[in-house]
Amino acid sequence: MPRIHLKPGRERSLARRHPWVFSGAIDHVEGNPGPGEVVEVRTSQGGFAAWAGYSPDSQIRARVWDWHERTRVDQAFIAARVARAVELRKFLVEPGAQAAIRLANGEADGLPGVVIDRFADTLVLQLTSAAAWCWREAITHAALEATGLERAFERSDADVLALEGLAPRVAVLAGPEPAAPFTIEEAGLAFQVDPRTGHKTGFYLDQRDNRALLRDLAEGREVLDCFCYSGGFAVNALAAGAAHVTAIDSSGEAIAAARRHIRMNELPEARADLIEADVFQQLRRFRDQGRRFDIIVLDPPKFAPTAAHVERAARAYKDINLWALRLLRPGGLLFTFSCSGGVPRELFQKIVAGAAVDAQADARILHHMGAAADHPVALAFPEGDYLKGLLCQTV
Ligand code: SAH
Repeated sequence: MPRIHLKPGRERSLARRHPWVFSGAIDHVEGNPGPGEVVEVRTSQGGFAAWAGYSPDSQIRARVWDWHERTRVDQAFIAARVARAVELRKFLVEPGAQAAIRLANGEADGLPGVVIDRFADTLVLQLTSAAAWCWREAITHAALEATGLERAFERSDADVLALEGLAPRVAVLAGPEPAAPFTIEEAGLAFQVDPRTGHKTGFYLDQRDNRALLRDLAEGREVLDCFCYSGGFAVNALAAGAAHVTAIDSSGEAIAAARRHIRMNELPEARADLIEADVFQQLRRFRDQGRRFDIIVLDPPKFAPTAAHVERAARAYKDINLWALRLLRPGGLLFTFSCSGGVPRELFQKIVAGAAVDAQADARILHHMGAAADHPVALAFPEGDYLKGLLCQTV
């Protein structure tokens, strides 16, 4: 069994159960582990620290599978982890035929680099570490077994793959190719998901609770949904009985999907304006036109995938928040999000606070938001807390 020997003092984060071993923490590697191979991690004193999956090309050189010396990381181990992840979701929801739920969420489920989403009768896997790639078949088999489903599809095409030295992989894993797009249901609303071409694995499941919160607050309101993608927030606002909804996305396909979703749910299309435009420009245009809104949603793409992009990202977040705050009526609500791993919660709040100062808006926080409960965050792994949101009210 190959071994990683840590530099003195570098076992501390592992002792706190942080599951990553960075290349800089490694003194030397014994044996010649290949991509994804199970390695034993040892402290500088030679004591056992963890079992981990090896990533020769990544700064995150190894990701922990387990902390117990007696554990054997084999097919049965992987299958048990997947089954446990599926089982743990059962106290959240018992999935119906058209359920859309994240069944495994990486590190928080003891499955680093593994995401498994269920969309109706199809599982969509996203595998983003060399170790996850090694166990592809075991993971797929276990996920099908635990859910009783027959269809699985792989959408491993996230940007982070490049950091692992892996090429994108989009392919059928089991069963027939998805007869896409197919329909899922969220809180009584229908959405079409195409796991072959949709963003991420097909749908932004992480925003489920926040869409529900908007639905609770949107009745009779004039709502602006920025970066609307396939209309998740806009459709919920219309379903709540919003007086009017404006939705903006720079992608024509996203706008078309949003329109389809409004029709599919028999919502009043006449009360919706769907605009294909750049949000940064459109917010300024609204300002010139003297437009005002009661509720604005800002759910932009990842401006800072890693800490290296933080400064540019901060400017972009500040800009859209500033302009949105200027467009809100007094007492209006701002749902503002960041899904950037590189922007922690505290910093995000500072950016929004700075935007409010520059917009000369007086706003307060009503609610802190995050990803839905099927996207748990491991206590020792704050990096997993990527989606943060603030519900602010202007005074
Ligand atoms: N709110 C959505 C998810 C948003 S994903 C939901 O709940 O499903 C981010 C979206 O922003 C993508 O659809 C992308 O096309 C769009 N986008 C990225 N940059 C943009 C820009 N500058 N202006 C408008 N839309 C943009």
